[in-house]
Amino acid sequence: MRHTELPWKVEFKDTNGHGGWEITHGDNRICTVYANIVFSPRKGHDLYRDKRNNESISNAHLIAAAPELLEALRPFAQYECGCGECHNCIAKAVILKAEAV
Ligand SMILES: [Zn+2]
Repeated sequence: MRHTELPWKVEFKDTNGHGGWEITHGDNRICTVYANIVFSPRKGHDLYRDKRNNESISNAHLIAAAPELLEALRPFAQYECGCGECHNCIAKAVILKAEAV
């Protein structure tokens, strides 16, 4: 394992209107998926009503789940057959992609 150990958490952090969803392990920030800030004259900055922010939140949670997804794929990868198309071969290819140095 070369990545930061588990658990990874997602938290919204707002820093002077430049907020985003931070993926963290304890006190360490792994990365930030920045929010798309939408200004509404009636509501001010309205982060949560923008479709792109729904995607940003989903992306942040996907990143936070990545280490567990990687481990869930490992059993399938051991049965790769070399066809490049079955679930086992795809699992192997995705693991290689995730562990590229
Ligand atoms: Zn295959």
